[in-house]
Amino acid sequence: MKKVLFSIMVCFLCLGMGISNVGAKKEKVIYLTFDDGPSKNTPKVLKILDQYKVKATFFVTGNGGKYTKYIGEAFNAGHKIGAHTYTHNYKIYKSKKSYYKDLNKIQNLIVKQTGQKTDIIRFPGGSSNTVSRHYKKGIMKKLTKDVRKKGYQYFDWNVSSGDAASVNPKTSRIVKNAKKGKSKNTIVLLMHDSKPKTHTVKALPKIIKYYKKKGYVFKTLDINSYAAHHPVNN
Ligand SMILES: [Zn+2]
Repeated sequence: MKKVLFSIMVCFLCLGMGISNVGAKKEKVIYLTFDDGPSKNTPKVLKILDQYKVKATFFVTGNGGKYTKYIGEAFNAGHKIGAHTYTHNYKIYKSKKSYYKDLNKIQNLIVKQTGQKTDIIRFPGGSSNTVSRHYKKGIMKKLTKDVRKKGYQYFDWNVSSGDAASVNPKTSRIVKNAKKGKSKNTIVLLMHDSKPKTHTVKALPKIIKYYKKKGYVFKTLDINSYAAHHPVNN
C-alpha cells in the first residue's frame, strides 16, 4: 500500500512539473563583457558590479601597469577572466606564431594573477576584424579554427555599447546602444574598461538597472556559453 501511495505521489509530482514547464518562459541572460583593461576604471567598474550584485567577464590585456592587480581582484570577487591580448598591437596577426606568442604572454599573466589558466578568449577587434588583412591574409580563418583545437572558445558579441566608436563617447549614447539588446533572449554586451572610458563607467549602473528591470539574469561566460560568433572576414 505504501508503495502504491508513493507511486501516486510521484505521478502527481511529475504532472505538476509538466504543467509548470509549459508556462515557463525562456530565461533571459545578459553577459556583461569588458575589454582592454585593467586600468584606473577597473576598480570603479568592480565597485558598481558589487553594488548591484552582478558578475561580469573581463577580457584582459598586459597594459594595465599598476592596475594589473585588478585582474586578481576581479577573479577573487567571482568575475570571469578571459584573455584578450598582452600588447593589443595588431601586429600579432602577422602569423600564427606571433599570435600565440602574445596569447601565451597574457595567459601567463592571468595565471600569475588568478592561479589558473583561462579557456576563453576574445580576439583584438573580434573575429570579424579586417585590420588583420594588413598583416596576414586569411589569418582569422586559421586562428578561429586553431584556437578551438587548442581547447579555447573565442567570444565575439551580439550587442555593442559603441564605447569604442571614439575615445570616450557620451554616456547617453553608450546607454542607448546597450539597450538595443532588449529583443534578444541572450545578450553578450561589448564594453571597455580601458583608461579613457570614463563614460562607460557612468553608463554601467543605468545599463544594469535597465536589464534587471527587464528580468535578465547576469552571468559570466564560460567555455560552453553562447559565443556570439561573427562572420570571419579575413
Ligand atoms: Zn580590444
